[in-house]
Amino acid sequence: MLPEIDVAIIGAGVIGLATAREIAQGKKHVFVFEKDRAFGLETSSRNSEVIHAGIYYPEDSLKAKLCVEGKNLLYQLCDEHGIAYKKSGKIIVATSKSETAQLERLYEQGRRNSVDDLMLLSRTEVKKLEPNIEAKAGLLSPSSGIFDSYALLKFLYGEARERGAEFVFDTEVTAMERAGTKYRVQIRDRDGISDFVADIVVNCAGLNSDKIAQLAGIDIAKAGYKLHYCKGEYFSLDSKYRNLISRLIYPTPEQVGHGIHFRQGLDGRVLLGPSAYYVEAIDYAVDETHKEAFYNSVKRFLPAIELEDLSPESSGIRPKLQGPGEAFRDFVVTHEEKAGLPGLINLIGIESPGLTASLAISRYVGAIMA
Ligand SMILES: Cc1cc2nc3c(=O)[nH]c(=O)nc-3n(C[C@H](O)[C@H](O)[C@H](O)COP(=O)(O)OP(=O)(O)OC[C@H]3O[C@@H](n4cnc5c(N)ncnc54)[C@H](O)[C@@H]3O)c2cc1C
Repeated sequence: MLPEIDVAIIGAGVIGLATAREIAQGKKHVFVFEKDRAFGLETSSRNSEVIHAGIYYPEDSLKAKLCVEGKNLLYQLCDEHGIAYKKSGKIIVATSKSETAQLERLYEQGRRNSVDDLMLLSRTEVKKLEPNIEAKAGLLSPSSGIFDSYALLKFLYGEARERGAEFVFDTEVTAMERAGTKYRVQIRDRDGISDFVADIVVNCAGLNSDKIAQLAGIDIAKAGYKLHYCKGEYFSLDSKYRNLISRLIYPTPEQVGHGIHFRQGLDGRVLLGPSAYYVEAIDYAVDETHKEAFYNSVKRFLPAIELEDLSPESSGIRPKLQGPGEAFRDFVVTHEEKAGLPGLINLIGIESPGLTASLAISRYVGAIMA
C-alpha cells in the first residue's frame, strides 16, 4: 500500500507557503514538497519586495482583484506580526507628452481597480515631493510600499507548520497520474524514487508549474499554460544615492514589465531594476554589458546619476504566460475539474504582483477547495 495524504502542495515559494498556511487550518493533512533545500529560494527571493497598489492590470482580472485584496491583507499581517515594511508611496513619472497621456490612462485604470487614493501630479508637484526627480508629470500612489519579504516567508512557513502542514525539502515531484479518484505522485529525494497517493494536488511550482500541469496530463499548448521565462536584472547604486529620493520611482510601464525603477530598500541600499527580456533557460547571472541601458533608462528622470556608480546586483525570472509581443495574460488559478482532473489545482503564471497578492491568492485557493 502506498502512503496516502489529503493534500500535496508542490513548491514552497510564497504561494505554496501561503496556501499551506491557509489550507492546513481546515485540519486537512497537508504536505508541501519542495525540490530545494529550503523554502523561498527561487522567484520569491528574487524580486523587488514592492507592495503593489494594483494599478496596472485590467479591471476584473485576478491580477487586479487579488493585488488590491492582497495588499490590504499584507499590510495588516505585517502590522499584526511585526514584519518590517515602509509605506513609502510611489510616483510613476512621465518624461514625454505621450507618457503623460499614459499616466492619465493609468490613473483611470487604477480607479477602475478600486485604487482610490491615486493623484495626478504636475511637474512642480513632482519636484516638491522629490526635488531630485525630473519629470513632465507624475502619478502618485500613496499605498505602494516595500517590505521584508524573507520575514513574510519565514512567518508563513512557521504558521503553516504550527497548523500541522509538513514540509519535505530536497524532494522533487517527477511524475503524476490519476489513480481512481486520487493522484499517484512520484517524488525523487536523496534516497531515490518513491510514490504516494493524494486526494488533492496544488501546483505552486512557479517556473515549473507548466511542466507539472503537463505531468498531470494537461495539454499545456492547448490550455495556454506554456510559460515563457522573462528575466529581470538589478543593478545597485553607490551609497551616495541613499536618501536622495524618498519614494519608489517608476517610469511609465513597458509592454512586459513595470519598467526599471528606483528603489531604496529597508536597509537603505538603492537598487535599479528590474529589466525585462525573454530567455530560454534559467540563469541568474547579471550581464554587466546591460549597465549602460540601465543608466540611460534612469538618467531620464534622475539626471544626477553617474554610469560608474552602477554595479551588477542580482536577477529574477518571471514565469510569464504572455509570450513576446503577446497581449496581457492573467494569473491562472484553476481547479481542473473541466479538464477531467478533479482535485488538481493549478497556479500558473504567478508573476508580479504575486508577492503582493500571495495572501489573497491563498484565500482564493482555499475557497476553490471548500
Ligand atoms: C524580477 C522580479 C521582480 C518582482 N517583483 C515583485 C514585486 O516587487 N512585488 C510583487 O508583488 N511581486 C513581484 N514579483 C513576482 C513575485 O516574486 C512572484 O509572483 C512570486 O514570488 C511567485 O511565487 P511562487 O511561490 O509562485 O514561485 P517560486 O518562489 O518560484 O516558488 C516555486 C517553488 O516551487 C519549487 N518547485 C518547482 N518545481 C518543483 C518540483 N517539480 N518539485 C518540487 N518543488 C518544485 C521551486 O523550487 C520553488 O521553490 C517579481 C518577480 C520577478 C521575477
